[in-house]
This record gives sequence, structure tokens and C-alpha cells, in this order.
Amino acid sequence: DTANADLAALIRTIPDFPKPGIQFRDITTLLLNAEGLAATIDRLATMHDGPFDLVAGIEARGFIFGAAVAQRLGTGLLLIRKNGKLPGRTVGVDYALEYGEDRIEMHADAVVPGCRVLLVDDLIATGGTALAAIRLLRKAGAMVGGAGFVIDLPDLGGVSKIEAEGVPVGALVAFD
Ligand code: IMP
Repeated sequence: DTANADLAALIRTIPDFPKPGIQFRDITTLLLNAEGLAATIDRLATMHDGPFDLVAGIEARGFIFGAAVAQRLGTGLLLIRKNGKLPGRTVGVDYALEYGEDRIEMHADAVVPGCRVLLVDDLIATGGTALAAIRLLRKAGAMVGGAGFVIDLPDLGGVSKIEAEGVPVGALVAFD
């Protein structure tokens, strides 16, 4: 049942994707499993103290989990997207990648000032993406009340970066 579902066992590891030396943690196998999916959504939705006004999902796998968590919590879903994808007026944040820069955006009018947001993504590694998302949400006037991830790669130190921002963080599975 969902209370005992072993999520780590449902996540597949693909060596050398997208490039040599990377161990890609593949959540598509978790999504295919009905109990695993239900347990994932349950645990993400209950790991932080609410109430939340909105759930924010980071493109693209964060959309999948974010939408289900939002439905479960009875909130709407806010999309944080890669540069140039959103049709309305946007607010954006640039952030450094291992090689180069990237930019994430959200619609400028997506949040009411002071609204309390739960940030959701599939995986936290260095924390660069989540940190940029927190900065973006704050720039738009939101309060980030928690961040939840399916997977943490603790060796890369992302969780402590987010905690240093004063945002409570949780992850369901950790991989060395
Ligand atoms: P970070 O910015 O270094 O924390 O990387 C996190 C982002 O990269 C998330 O949006 C993830 O979706 C993506 N990511 C990095 N490594 C993996 C992986 O092994 N599997 C799935 N997504 C990954």
C-alpha cells in the first residue's frame, strides 16, 4: 500500500545520460507505478505545514508532481518555465549552470503579494534551479513556505543552500 511504498526501488538509474559520467535518476518508472505515484503525491503534499495558497512546479517534471500535489491540497498550480515559453508578461531570474547560464520565468501577475507558495520539483542536485525559483517567486511578491522534491542528491549540497534561504526543505528519496 501507499504507506509502505518503496519509492527508491521504483526510480531507475540510467548510466551516462545525458552525458558520460552522469547517473541519471529516471522517475518515469515511478510514474508508471500506481501505488508509487500515489505515495509520492501523498508524501509531497504532507511533508510541510500548510496552509499553502499555491503550488509552484518547475518545468518540466515539476509540473507533473506539482499539478497532482496542488489538486491534493486544493490549490492552484503556478508554472515556472524556461526562458521564452510563457505568453504573458513575465518576471525572470538568470542563474548559473555548470556551463553557461539559464533563465526561468513566471507570469508577473500569477501571485497575489504575500501568498504562500509550496515549491515542487522532481530532483534537487546543486540547488541552483530551486534557488533561482525561490528568488523568482520572491521577486514576484510570493512567500515560499516550503520546497519539496522527490529526490535529493545530498553530495551536491542543494538542500542546505535552500535551508540557508530560510525555506523548509524535504525530499522523499536520497541517492549518494
Ligand atoms: P540543480 O539545479 O543542480 O539542483 O539540478 C536540479 C535540476 O536538474 C532539476 O530541475 C532536475 O529535474 C534536473 N536534474 C538533474 N539531475 C537529474 C537526474 O539525475 N534526474 C532527473 N533530473 C535531474
